[in-house]
Amino acid sequence: MALEEKREKRPPVTPMMIEEEAALRNGSRGLPPGPWAEAAGPRPRTTERHIAVHKRLVLGFAVSILALLAVTMIAVLLSVRFEECGAAADGPPRAGGNGSLSGVARQPHGAGQPPGRPEEDARGGEAAEEEEEEEEEWQRRRELPPWARPRLPRHLRPLHYNLMLTAFMENFTFSGEVNVQLEVRNASRYIVLHAHRMHIEAVRVAEDKLAGGVRVARTFFYPQTQVFVVVLNRSLEVQRSYNLKIIYNALIENELLGFFRSSYVLHGERRFLGVTQFSPTHARKAFPCFDEPIYKATFKISIRHQATYLSLSNMPVETSVFEEDGWVTDHFSQTPLMSTYYLAWAVCNFTYRETVTKSGVVVRLYARPDAIRRGSGDYALNITRRLIEFYEDYFKVPYSLPKLDLLAVPKHPYAAMENWGLSVFVEQRILLDPSISSILYLLDVTMVIVHELCHQWFGDLVTPVWWEDVWLKEGFAHYFEFVGTDYLYPGWNMEKQRFLTDVLHEVMLLDGLASSHPVSQEVQQASDIDRVFDWIAYKKGAALIRMLAGFMGHSVFQMGLQDYLTIHKYGNAARNDLWNTLSKALKRVGKSVNIQEVMDQWTLQMGYPVITILGNETTDNIIVISQERFVYDSDTKPKDPARGDTSYLWQIPLTIAVGNTSHISSEAIIWVSNKSEHHRIPALEEASWLLGNINQTGYFRVNYDIRNWKLLINQLTRNHEVISVSNRAGLIDDAFNLARAGYLPQNIPLEIMRYLSEEKDFLPWHAASRALYPLDKLLDRTENYNIFNEYILRQVASMYLKLGWPTNNLNKSLVQASYQHEELRREVIMLACSFGNKHCHQQAATLISDWISSNRNRIPLNVRDIVYCTGVSLMDEDVWEFIWMKFHSTTAVSEKKILLEALTCSDDRNLLNRLLNLSLNSEVVLDQDAIDVIIHVARNPHGRDLAWKFFREKWKILNARYGEALFMNSKLVSGVTEFLNTEGELRELKNFIKSYEGGAAVSFSRAVETVEANVRWQRLYKEELFQWLRKSLTQ
Ligand SMILES: [Zn+2]
Repeated sequence: MALEEKREKRPPVTPMMIEEEAALRNGSRGLPPGPWAEAAGPRPRTTERHIAVHKRLVLGFAVSILALLAVTMIAVLLSVRFEECGAAADGPPRAGGNGSLSGVARQPHGAGQPPGRPEEDARGGEAAEEEEEEEEEWQRRRELPPWARPRLPRHLRPLHYNLMLTAFMENFTFSGEVNVQLEVRNASRYIVLHAHRMHIEAVRVAEDKLAGGVRVARTFFYPQTQVFVVVLNRSLEVQRSYNLKIIYNALIENELLGFFRSSYVLHGERRFLGVTQFSPTHARKAFPCFDEPIYKATFKISIRHQATYLSLSNMPVETSVFEEDGWVTDHFSQTPLMSTYYLAWAVCNFTYRETVTKSGVVVRLYARPDAIRRGSGDYALNITRRLIEFYEDYFKVPYSLPKLDLLAVPKHPYAAMENWGLSVFVEQRILLDPSISSILYLLDVTMVIVHELCHQWFGDLVTPVWWEDVWLKEGFAHYFEFVGTDYLYPGWNMEKQRFLTDVLHEVMLLDGLASSHPVSQEVQQASDIDRVFDWIAYKKGAALIRMLAGFMGHSVFQMGLQDYLTIHKYGNAARNDLWNTLSKALKRVGKSVNIQEVMDQWTLQMGYPVITILGNETTDNIIVISQERFVYDSDTKPKDPARGDTSYLWQIPLTIAVGNTSHISSEAIIWVSNKSEHHRIPALEEASWLLGNINQTGYFRVNYDIRNWKLLINQLTRNHEVISVSNRAGLIDDAFNLARAGYLPQNIPLEIMRYLSEEKDFLPWHAASRALYPLDKLLDRTENYNIFNEYILRQVASMYLKLGWPTNNLNKSLVQASYQHEELRREVIMLACSFGNKHCHQQAATLISDWISSNRNRIPLNVRDIVYCTGVSLMDEDVWEFIWMKFHSTTAVSEKKILLEALTCSDDRNLLNRLLNLSLNSEVVLDQDAIDVIIHVARNPHGRDLAWKFFREKWKILNARYGEALFMNSKLVSGVTEFLNTEGELRELKNFIKSYEGGAAVSFSRAVETVEANVRWQRLYKEELFQWLRKSLTQ
């Protein structure tokens, strides 16, 4: 049989060919097995089959002679082939990548690699036959070979890695030697582990140091799954442990993933640094490893570098060995059990400042020397110390490592990355110069740090089993941004208030699209993993966790988390582990809720419900509560309302209260789980109203009959303080979005807004301002825009007058005390200036003129972005040039960002085009900022079409640049398209998607749905809105 099967195959193949073949097979998975596969199957043979086999045998004899000749030739050519083996085994071809990499590999680094090749040198022509046998073996079993499967085969487990690296910063390459101690769970001849874009020089496998090597038959890369395969001559035995040694080298990439380089200018001289970004799947670009979160192991890292640099990693340096030639090797302490994605290292010549927590954790902030000298890292350092103390107290689990370094780098694909003990931040999210930073900037910096510190527990200490539950770690960290900030600034009410506008309202916009997805998504391929890191995971995850904490009660919730972290520390856990632990915590206080059952509906179903509460006209004290899935575009709603979309049901913890002019009842919790339910409530008086979702702790919208809406509006106008701040903000957001989706008449949200002239709290203004924004963008290029504009200005005018402009700059104690007031003032000024309040415009112009003439910037910090933007949009080109010049000359990162964004506010299309073109020049605009430039131009009604055109023309460049960096592409696609709203633009979008070449498919389907909903809104509701506005303005 073996002979027969072999005949059907081609002559011996090179590793690359094997990869291609496997790809073909891979591609044909799911098709019915071909005739050959059937012949190989175990079923009884028919006579015809015997004849066929006989023919094949005869044919086979001839072919085998040919094969023998071929094998002989190959044996002769073997030496040549093995010389090339390394090059052939390189990763997938990449422009500018492989050529230089192979070249580098042959250079003697003096790094101490032995010149030896893999043991495969010793093998003969039989290897080729083995390859074929293996291939056929897998085909016969109708299984994918272990290297072609989307997940690593489970037969091996890494216990410990010894990783020795040498970084050559002068040519941006590095060499490494990794020794992995492996435990065998199932006997196998294959070692399959991740490795990508590297050149492997040597591979050895040893049972232990004494017993000697296990011979390697062959090795190859399989780029489709980014793995490296070591085929052994014999099977590894169960429950023994082996050592796998791989010597390799690779580039310190000039992109933002893996081990990459970055640079900055100090004293007129460009300096370089190397830093890593491994999450989610890029550790494999820096060393061969089992790059899935479940494979926790310990790591001992050594980094050899020139003594002019310093090196950092997750653990502190244990010893440093200096060589005479100016090189030094830092040996780091061994890590606890951890996953590869939050391993990290860096080679740089930064300096640092240091502090120590009460429990003795050494916290250092590393940054470029000039920033450290200026003290730009001090704020972050100070709050980090306090936050570690906060988390240790909240979770009742001490921080697990002896130190935590925060590293501020000039370039990074994300705001920050939570590497255990060595968290990396982009400078703009950690450096803060108190003399020129707004409250908003301070808040951004604070929250990013709170987030990454939360991950030291949620993510690093307890790690998701697999990426489908990435929302758990991200949802928690995002939720704790608010809880942790409340600890630092107790008066700010972040979790109770700002969470609503920044998270809940924000994500309900996204999750209200029919093309949304569940927060917990199935993940198979590496490419799916990038997809799960999106706002749904972060923000919906956080909103669900807040709802959970709400119905559990915060102290029980906290106890549950403490148990969860204690039980699973240094291990992995899935969402059910959390649900079970939390259910037990509830049980201990005598409550019984099946948290898994409830939460599965929220995490495995996409979208969210809108609850409709109807006061029953006929029966007293009975209300009807119904639920349906909320979607913006009713064309995508179920066609047959009688049948309904019954597949979407949630168990909803609905809190409900009854109020009258001066009083609101204490809320009661009602679990709503059916499509429609009747509930009894306390007696309703004539003028009493119902309010659902008290303090907006639930992740859903609430709608009422028009009578109840009118009563609520009436209450807000007469005495809004009867209703809580969070609910005032919630009513505004719900009303605007229900109207946008067609559940409510267009005038209701605009009527609610009227009470704002008396509103002294920041949150409802913030909610209104955010809800108005998309409506503004729907109208800003229409003929009658000024009617809308006029209406908004009227609502803002009196509060604008009342609050006035900030006069002096804030000092630290003022920030703490007056955050709410300053943020409210800022919000109102922003509305006034952007809707064209004359006084606001004059004020902005005066401040800018003063700056230009005196060359002293006396513009209050908290409104600088508003003033710059207003100045650029109103004043002539000289102002644009002035801001452009300041953008180049300033070194403070916060200032640089708002100057850049101000440039996008111009009315001058030439200037906007110029800016767009400059945005892709990395020397001028940082890669991560270019996206913001394009998006901001798209928000400007004068630039929307320019940005849209630019985006389409440069798509190839943009996709190549950002395609791999999780968020960026989807942020760009939605940012550029979300405010397109004409039939023509919709056509352009669809045509573009037809013709474009790959990438961001999910983002594009979301974009089409959004634009379709925009167009539909224009068609159905625009006139209704304008009619009401006209009437209202003449009253
Ligand atoms: Zn995170």
